Amino acid sequence: MAKRDYYEVLGVEKNASADEIKKAYRKLAIKYHPDKNPDDKSAEDKFKEAAEAYEVLSNADKKAKYDRFGHQGMGGAGGFSGQGMSMDDIFSQFGDVFGDSFGSFFGGGGGRRGPRRPTGSNIRIKLKVSFEDIKKGSEKKIRFKRWVVAPGLEFKSCNTCGGSGSVTRVTQTFLGHMQTTAACPSCGGTGQTINNRPKGANEQGLVQEETETTLKIPAGVQDGMQLSVSGKGNEVPGGVPGDLILIIEEIAHPELTREESNVYFDLFISVPEAVLGCTAEVPTIEGKAKITIDAGIQSGKVLKLRGKGFPDINGYHTGDQLVRVNVFIPSKINKEEEALMKKLLDSESFSPENKPKKDRSFFDRMKDFI
Ligand SMILES: [Zn+2]
Repeated sequence: MAKRDYYEVLGVEKNASADEIKKAYRKLAIKYHPDKNPDDKSAEDKFKEAAEAYEVLSNADKKAKYDRFGHQGMGGAGGFSGQGMSMDDIFSQFGDVFGDSFGSFFGGGGGRRGPRRPTGSNIRIKLKVSFEDIKKGSEKKIRFKRWVVAPGLEFKSCNTCGGSGSVTRVTQTFLGHMQTTAACPSCGGTGQTINNRPKGANEQGLVQEETETTLKIPAGVQDGMQLSVSGKGNEVPGGVPGDLILIIEEIAHPELTREESNVYFDLFISVPEAVLGCTAEVPTIEGKAKITIDAGIQSGKVLKLRGKGFPDINGYHTGDQLVRVNVFIPSKINKEEEALMKKLLDSESFSPENKPKKDRSFFDRMKDFI
């Protein structure tokens, strides 16, 4: 079936104002509203057709496109699909068309059916993890307080809604009788109310209990990351429990600094060590590592210990440990050392004339690793 012209659908002129378009649509929406025309397929089609026409003509951009290209201009990427609108789309548009007071008369179209299953609240716990835990993954025993349904709690069907969870109100409007459906205020939509409340239970029929659980914390977690354990949160009568949410808190390492999956360490060596070369012991996440410092190393040089960083949480990659070599220059020396240094002042080898041709900055060298 050929698509009808949107102006024709709404019965307005091409130069109709926004207000005239809205008025025309309002009239059609009321005339063909499904509540007024139950089981009438042609009315439903007309209702949808009018909604689609209004969707386009009420939007300046879409209207301009439609005016230039007609229905062809509406398809394709980014444009209006032209596939018609769902009832939900149409009803959600009604607030604009009728104002909020009218919008509510039309309800949400289909609406909810049957009682609601409530969800318990989530429990949030901060969990401290060390660098070693993050490197290897860990298992943590966690104790926490949790609200659970009191033993012996009994329910009965809600008197107000008869167990359906919703109440229907019939209102006299200019459209005739309109039905609105809302969650039952007595039972909050669950269809059940508490029959007998055990001693010690709160108003919702819950008691607090101390619980313990062992959880696997995957390797590679990061500070601020949240891990959620489904169903370990607070219970709620007649519903599903909430979640237990663990918020990861990294324990700062005394010597190492984390940057994503890499760790950094600042190593200090003495002037003679830098000149002569040496071996040095550096702390790593899991212990210690020996590294060889070549004779003549420049201060600021970065050495890489491959794979000594953190695994990423997906396990695709493991970071490195980056060791920045700093040559320590003493600020206090004795007479003997002073004499030694003075001798070196005249040394040609110690003259910065011999510096590497074009020294790359520390940051350039860091880029090599990232
Ligand atoms: Zn109820």
